[in-house]
Amino acid sequence: MNCFVHRHETSLGICCACGKGLCEQCTYEYKEMNVLSCQASKCHEHIQSRHQLVLEAKRINAIVKKDYAFRVVLNLFLAFLFAVFSVFYYVTSSEGFAPSLATFSLIFFISGIKSGMNAKKWPKT
Ligand SMILES: [Zn+2]
Ligand SMILES: [Zn+2]
Repeated sequence: MNCFVHRHETSLGICCACGKGLCEQCTYEYKEMNVLSCQASKCHEHIQSRHQLVLEAKRINAIVKKDYAFRVVLNLFLAFLFAVFSVFYYVTSSEGFAPSLATFSLIFFISGIKSGMNAKKWPKT
């Protein structure tokens, strides 16, 4: 492929917005994104706004992931706590608290595992 402005120059790459061939003179490189652009301001805007979207998506992703990790820890902690209480009541008390406490423990355990599985579905940042 040749440069779309300088027809005799071999293109070094293509503009990632409009797909036109670019020679060395025509190429503008976005190093942080590792993409090439032609000189058209429309293409620059396109690439920059897309980069903003990518950054925003990464930011949100990180927050959601952190939130899931927190929920996993919290749920597993509560599950553990209720399991301990359940055993404690089972050993020390004749009242029937143990089964319902054990059920709570199980519920927290399951929702902790579920949160962990949901977190895995999110794309890596
Ligand atoms: Zn372009
Ligand atoms: Zn050129």
